[in-house]
Amino acid sequence: MSADAAQDAPKKLTPVEGFKDASNYLSGPIPEELANDAPNFTGEAMQLLKHHGSYEQDDRDRRKEAKAEKVPGGKYYSMMVRTVVPGGRMSSDQLMAQFDLCEEVGNGTLRLTTRQAIQVHGILKSNLRHYINRVVAIGQTTLAACGDVCRNVMCSPVPKKNAVYDEMQALADRIKEHFKPRTGSYYELWVTDSETGEKTLAAGGANANGSGGYEFKSSGIKDGDGVEPIYGKTYLPRKFKMGVGLPEDNNADLYSQDIGFLAIVENELVVGYNLIVGGGFGRTPSAAKTFAAVGAPLCYCPLGEEISAAEAIMKVQRDFGDRTDRKVARLKYTLNRLGVEKFKELVEEYAGRALDPPKDAPITAHDDGMGWHEQGDGRWYYGLNVENGRIKDDGDFRLKTALRQIAAELNPPLRITGHQGLILCDIDAGDKSKLESLLTSHGVTLTENVSNARRWSMACPAMPTCGLAITESERALPGIMTQIEEELAKLGLQDEVFTTRMTGCPNGCARPYNSDIGLVGRAKEKYTMFLGGGTLGYRLNWIYKDMVPADQVAPELAKVFAEFKAKRTEGETFGDFCDRVGKEELLASCGE
Ligand code: SF4
Repeated sequence: MSADAAQDAPKKLTPVEGFKDASNYLSGPIPEELANDAPNFTGEAMQLLKHHGSYEQDDRDRRKEAKAEKVPGGKYYSMMVRTVVPGGRMSSDQLMAQFDLCEEVGNGTLRLTTRQAIQVHGILKSNLRHYINRVVAIGQTTLAACGDVCRNVMCSPVPKKNAVYDEMQALADRIKEHFKPRTGSYYELWVTDSETGEKTLAAGGANANGSGGYEFKSSGIKDGDGVEPIYGKTYLPRKFKMGVGLPEDNNADLYSQDIGFLAIVENELVVGYNLIVGGGFGRTPSAAKTFAAVGAPLCYCPLGEEISAAEAIMKVQRDFGDRTDRKVARLKYTLNRLGVEKFKELVEEYAGRALDPPKDAPITAHDDGMGWHEQGDGRWYYGLNVENGRIKDDGDFRLKTALRQIAAELNPPLRITGHQGLILCDIDAGDKSKLESLLTSHGVTLTENVSNARRWSMACPAMPTCGLAITESERALPGIMTQIEEELAKLGLQDEVFTTRMTGCPNGCARPYNSDIGLVGRAKEKYTMFLGGGTLGYRLNWIYKDMVPADQVAPELAKVFAEFKAKRTEGETFGDFCDRVGKEELLASCGE
């Protein structure tokens, strides 16, 4: 099938494709619905709003109350808004402005996401424009934080002052800039006054560079159209995720991305990137056609050629991805359907050049950046463990206030990690103890005092905000980690490093399918337990037990930990042990 023939095949498209097609580049009915008094959006506007960085949600804890109270719309609706943070980099001023916003119009808390972005929940529809306008004013954007486009670009976040890390972070910016949607609707909706046509940024704002001001530099391969040179008016069949990392630092979980850019380093300089293609974790247990996948290296690109190769890959996905069924629309399914050889052939056709084979560069480590480290210029960075990424003030735990005071006194540049941590950068040696005391005096546990098990755990938000959640996740994991800590301590295994990732449904937002332990919501308070992945992230785990009640997670794991202690080889990690021994032997030893 040639590239041209792909456009001609008859298709019965999903409703979302129709919404995008009729939306005049992601506007559709949003302006009218923003102006009305309803507490929620219609389905069409909701789908389009994702591309602007917002999901409509409702308070699932209060559904009965909403019904009894007969509230307008029947539910307590609100919006989640996600701000993209390429490479996880932001200033303290930006974080403080986000805190102001979450207190002003959100639920008072802020979430560091598993893709190094920021999420605020509980924003009423009537406050949506104010929120997004203010985000643009502080030099950030919510554009393409969700939707069928290039999402937030991840990158190894540790602020080491050297050419390799500088280049990787610069690539994260280049990717985000190159693949950002060009539609003017974002700025028309959230920044431009509908009556005067003037840009109306909140006070103190940075320049809002709308689509009109950006000069698109074509790579010379096929175009979408005049407005969206890469995407065209129906954008991509599904979300598209990218990340940048190193063999010795896989914080960006490259094998879980649609495209992972693995830096190849010679003489302490990045000389090019392996492109790892086709990762993706969403699956539906009842649909056999769906699966989680880790990516595979497709090609090597000398420095400077990586973006045009990625553009060719994205365009193959744009034109050959399945737009008739969103369950199988991600790149991993396109790759599976076409086969690697055909897929590569198409990418070469779109790129207009042959692609080099990938370099041999196995993943060897994952730097989570936690604790104190000298950053290479005499100053220090401190990686703070933020449990499940939630920044809040809650009783004696006042992390939000602590960070406000740290910002006021030290103003550190910040980086969000791929494991929901926060790195505070550029700290003078003389300020280290001040930073620590600002944290501890607000009831925040220093990373050094957090167990390895908890430090390497993460959860998606799930209940009560996510409409797809089947079980608890963020609210359940801390208690389960306490039980796991106790079991590990009994066995003397408290120093082991392994990842535990929990999600409230099989969509897998917290990447549970390549971790040492994956806990995926399956039915009310019951989880599918996965074992056999690892901190390095290049291997899928497998189902160990299904329908495990929440209160049985730690006891079930305790049996496997005991086996691990008894039968591990020297230096073997928990995930490697489970992978080597396998499900059948573990079940036989630990009991069905
Ligand atoms: Fe919601 Fe499921 Fe994603 Fe969790 S994994 S945030 S429950 S969609």
